[in-house]
Amino acid sequence: MNHSPTEQAADTVARLRGTFRTGRTKSVEWRKEQLRRLRAMLTEHGDDLAAALHADLGKSATEAHRTEIDFTIREIDHTLEHLDEWLRPEPAPVPAYLGADATAWTQYDPLGVVLVIAPWNYPAQLLLAPVVGALASGNAVVAKPSELAPATSAALAELIPAYLDTDAVAVVEGGIPETTALLAQRFDHIFYTGNGTVGRVVMRAAAEHLTPVTLELGGKSPAFVDRDTDLDVVADRLARGKFLNAGQTCVAPDYVLTDPATAPALEAALVRAVEGIYGTDPAASPEYGRIINERHFDRLSGLLDSGRVAVGGGSDRTDKYIAPTVLADVMPDAPVMQEEIFGPILPIVTVPDLDAAVDFINDRDKPLALYVFTDSDTTRDRIAAETSSGGLGNGLPLAHLTVSDLPFGGVGESGMGNYHGRYSLDTFSHRKAVLNKPLGE
Ligand code: NAD
Repeated sequence: MNHSPTEQAADTVARLRGTFRTGRTKSVEWRKEQLRRLRAMLTEHGDDLAAALHADLGKSATEAHRTEIDFTIREIDHTLEHLDEWLRPEPAPVPAYLGADATAWTQYDPLGVVLVIAPWNYPAQLLLAPVVGALASGNAVVAKPSELAPATSAALAELIPAYLDTDAVAVVEGGIPETTALLAQRFDHIFYTGNGTVGRVVMRAAAEHLTPVTLELGGKSPAFVDRDTDLDVVADRLARGKFLNAGQTCVAPDYVLTDPATAPALEAALVRAVEGIYGTDPAASPEYGRIINERHFDRLSGLLDSGRVAVGGGSDRTDKYIAPTVLADVMPDAPVMQEEIFGPILPIVTVPDLDAAVDFINDRDKPLALYVFTDSDTTRDRIAAETSSGGLGNGLPLAHLTVSDLPFGGVGESGMGNYHGRYSLDTFSHRKAVLNKPLGE
């Protein structure tokens, strides 16, 4: 029997809703058991997932374990360790007129059936980390991996049902038709990671059912480099953050802002850093990844002449390889400065001073991350106070999202809502207000 994607989506959601209605997923023991099984899946099949990530993105095994598998294991461990404490009802003081015997508290209620839609760039982590939060909160989950990372999608579709409660967790593979069919269903929360165009599609579909959404989007995350900093340290950290996963990281530094006097020395330091990390032939480095597909390769190739090539610039379409590239003398109106780069190209743009840097940032969409490299507390404080971004990293790119007790999410065009650690519990639960007034007397 051939069912249409819509019929299949409706069947899946109805089945999961039936399970949720039994109350099984609400049990804290069930939640912990699912997390322990997910952990077992990752430890027992970490190498299989790493192989799939290599097939999809040329990720080295070290990088796959560090940024996807071990990352998710840490999220699970942190959640298992703290879940009881996070779920404890929070008492609230009651006004005197309700009487001394009245009490009030907030309690965390699961939402029901939630949908998690993941992108291709960290296709395991960005599906599983939200699933951790959704399960810890006592929900049933439909997980939709990205079709653009087909090996990882297939591996997850095989592994997840082998480990988790299949009556409460379903993996739906597919592209636009399957996702559209899912989005037509009524969910209790939709958690979407990807680009803003599809984010709008998701939000429109969610509006039909008044379903709340979390949108984890992207954008151009700036890195400001102050004068008089140790540029070798800055360049090394910038290059490692930028060229990880061949630049296909939502919080990668998108471009560098610095003053004209600092730019030449920073450029030279970045050249040394790239050669130090990847050698003079990065194509031969096992640590350097590949572009996800030809479409993105062609898009990125078209940006390589947006400035003067300081290092890199080479590419090979058959290998989907684009060298780690630093572009100098980039003008704000250059093509590479118009949209999120999402690839291994790092433009250096100059601004006269800190005021101009702050204006440059504030003239554009609010970024997912902002990085500041300075030894001056005043500069750091000014940027923190005068700009808005999903996260702020002083001195080190990407690392803020590995701190489990920090919320990870965007603001404005870079998204809405957040997750990780206890913030996932806030996202995937309803905080119910409870007032209790005894009937006695
Ligand atoms: P993608 O193309 O894999 O799309 C993401 C998901 O949306 C996929 O599951 C896909 O099937 C689905 N989708 C695509 N088109 C759709 C449509 N018309 N209707 C319904 N569903 C559809 O990934 P992408 O969007 O190219 O991801 C890259 C973007 O994601 C970048 O902008 C990046 O910055 C952002 N991102 C953000 C985060 C974050 O945590 N904030 C993390 C990673 C990536």
